[in-house]
Amino acid sequence: MRTLYHFHGGIHPPSNKTQSTQTAIARAPLPSLLIVPLQQHAGETAKPVVQAGDHVLKGQLIGMPDGFVSSAVHAPTSGTIAAVDMQLIAHPSGLPNLCATLIPDGKDEWVALKPVDDYRSHSPAELQQLLRMGGVVGLGGAAFPSDIKVRIGKQKITTLILNGAECEPYITCDDMLMCERAAEIVQGAEILRFMLDANEVLIGVEDNKPEAIAALQQAITASGPVLQQNKRYEVVAIPTIYPGGSAKQLIRVLTGLEVPSGKLPTDIGVQCFNVATAYSVHRALVKGEPLISRIVTITGNVREAQNFEALIGTPIAELVALAEALPDTDAYIMGGPMMGFPLPAVHVPLVKATNCIIAASKKIFPPPPPAMPCIRCTRCVEVCPADLQPQDLYWFAQSKEFGRAQAFSLFDCIECGACSYVCPSHIPLVQYYRFAKSEIRAREHDKQLADQARVRHEYHEQRLEREKREKAEKLAAKEKAAQAAKLASAQPLTPQQQTEQAELAASRAHIRQLAQSEVEHTDEGVTK
Ligand code: SF4
Ligand code: SF4
Repeated sequence: MRTLYHFHGGIHPPSNKTQSTQTAIARAPLPSLLIVPLQQHAGETAKPVVQAGDHVLKGQLIGMPDGFVSSAVHAPTSGTIAAVDMQLIAHPSGLPNLCATLIPDGKDEWVALKPVDDYRSHSPAELQQLLRMGGVVGLGGAAFPSDIKVRIGKQKITTLILNGAECEPYITCDDMLMCERAAEIVQGAEILRFMLDANEVLIGVEDNKPEAIAALQQAITASGPVLQQNKRYEVVAIPTIYPGGSAKQLIRVLTGLEVPSGKLPTDIGVQCFNVATAYSVHRALVKGEPLISRIVTITGNVREAQNFEALIGTPIAELVALAEALPDTDAYIMGGPMMGFPLPAVHVPLVKATNCIIAASKKIFPPPPPAMPCIRCTRCVEVCPADLQPQDLYWFAQSKEFGRAQAFSLFDCIECGACSYVCPSHIPLVQYYRFAKSEIRAREHDKQLADQARVRHEYHEQRLEREKREKAEKLAAKEKAAQAAKLASAQPLTPQQQTEQAELAASRAHIRQLAQSEVEHTDEGVTK
C-alpha cells in the first residue's frame, strides 16, 4: 500500500457530480456551424492557412503553430470555410480573437490520417513535433501545449503523474472518460512515459470515483503487452478534498515532494498530465487523429445533465440546448464553480480547455451577501492549500502594496477560491489576488518596455559618441600627416639626401647637355 501525504488546508464543497454521471457519454450531433479559435492554447496564436471559400476535410490543418509555445488547429469536420475573422470567444477577458468559421458539408469526411506504427522507433524530437502538429494541449484547463511539457532537456524525470483527481464540483468529464476509455488513457500514458523516460506512472484519482479506479486498474492489467515490463504503473485512490487535483497538491499527496516556490514539477523530477491529455496523445499518435473534439460536462440548471463528446468550435448554445437548460438560467460558467468564469455570451464556441459548462441560476448560485470588513478570523489561512496568509494578501492587494504582496508569495496562490469559500465576511478574495497579479504583470511589462527603450537609447548615444570620436581621430591623423609633410620640406637635408640631390641634378644637367650638343650637330650638318 502506497504511503499518501497531506497538503495543508483544503475544503469539502458539495460535489454535485452525480447529476451528470447517470448516463454514458453522448456524441453531440454535427452543429450547424463551427467557430474554431486559432488560439485555444497557452502561447502564440496559430497562423491561419485557410481563407474564406476554401473546402476543408475533417482533421485538415487550418492553423499552423507560430512560435515556440504554440499549437496546431484543425478543421473539426469537412465543409467550407465561411470566414477567418475576429469573433467573441470563451475567455474571461470577453475580448474577440481570430477564428475560422466552418460550415459543415454533412459528410464528415476525414483527411488521410497518418498513424504512427511504432512510437518507440521515433526520436523524442519527432514525437514532440507530432504532438505539436496534432494540436495536443493540456485538457485539464490550462491548455498548455503538450509538446513543450515533454521537452525537459537534461532533467531526469522519475515519475509521470496522470491527474484523474477532478476535484472541482460539478465537473465529471474526466471521470466518465476514465470509466469508458481507460485503455486508451493507459496507452497514452505509456507514450508520455516513454517520451519522458520516466521510471513510474502514478494515476491519481479521488476516492469518490470507484468505477474509474477499477476501470484504470483493469486497463493496466489488460495493457500488459504495450507497457514496459520493468516500469511501475499504479492507480492511486487519493482522499477527496478540494483542491486535491491541483498539480502541486497532487504531487505532494502522491510523492511527499514539494514543488518549491517559483519552480516547476520537472525541477523535482516529476511531470504531470491530465488523463484526458493522455487520451488525446493516444488518439494523435496511435490513430493519427488531431485534437478536434473533447468530452464536456453540461450541468447545473438543466433538465438532463450529461457529458457530451463535442467537436471543438461547437457553439455552447447548441450544447446547452441538448441538455435542456431551464428558462430561469441567467448565466453560463465555463469550468467549475470554484475556478471557472462566466461566459461573455452563450453562442461562443467550445474550445480545447472547455471541460464543463454550468448553467447558472439564482437558485443554484444565490448572489453573495455584500462583503464586510475582514475580522482577522484566519479561517482563510486554515484552508489555504498553498500555505499562504490570504488575509494579508488581501490587505496588500486592496492597499496596492504590490511589492509586499509579492514578498508574501502572491504568485504561489493557485486561485483555488478555498479562502473565499470559507470567509465569513464574504470577501471576494480571489478577485483581489487576480487584480494584484495583473497589476504586477502590467508593471513588469511596462518596466521591461522602459528597460528596452533605455538600452536602445544608451546604445544610440554610444554610437553617436563613437562616430564623433572616430571622426575627430581621423581629422587629427590627417592634420598630423600634413604637419609632418610641411616639416619635412622645411628641414635641412641630411648628407646622404644632399649627395642624392647633387647626383640627381648632375644627371639632369648631363642629359640637358647631350640634348643641346645633338641639336647643334644637326644644325651644322644642315648648314653645310
Ligand atoms: S476568512 Fe475573511 S474575515 Fe477571516 S481572516 Fe480571512 S479574509 Fe479576514
Ligand atoms: S485562492 Fe490562493 S490564497 Fe486563497 S486559498 Fe487558494 S491558494 Fe490560498
